[in-house]
Amino acid sequence: MTLVLSTFPAGPLDCTCAIVGDRVAKEAVLIDPGGEPERIAAVLAQHDLRVVAIVHTHGHLDHMLATAAVKAAHGGIVCLHGADAWLHQEFQDRTKSFLGLDVSPAPPLERLLEHEDVIDCGAYLSLSQNDRLRTGENSGRFSGLASSSVGGHGHVRRSREVE
Ligand SMILES: [Zn+2]
Repeated sequence: MTLVLSTFPAGPLDCTCAIVGDRVAKEAVLIDPGGEPERIAAVLAQHDLRVVAIVHTHGHLDHMLATAAVKAAHGGIVCLHGADAWLHQEFQDRTKSFLGLDVSPAPPLERLLEHEDVIDCGAYLSLSQNDRLRTGENSGRFSGLASSSVGGHGHVRRSREVE
């Protein structure tokens, strides 16, 4: 099994963070880093994974509370749906007003996703915005990652156990 999937609640609002990786290619996509940067680092180190992209299912502040930290530590292209870019711009102010927290601005968006956009990761995975994670092999084994931005409230979900 080359797929790595680790999901856990992160941050003050328990946003579900997910690390999806390919053990063979040693590449991972980090989804909704709302907190727990040390745990994220531990999972990446455990599987010797390099972050190719940091993907936000949408622009709510709780999904990006640790984005600056993980970007600084691990790199990866920062991605968000273009329609939510305004939320990214207001991240600092909104975090102050909603949570009372002083935070640095979120790192610049490096890729604006579009509907049904695809993010490649390793040889086996592609992540599709507003769709689900698809696997190049073992198709059907894994169907649990949904994301959305416009018109929905996307969160990472896991519907099946993956080793
Ligand atoms: Zn949200």
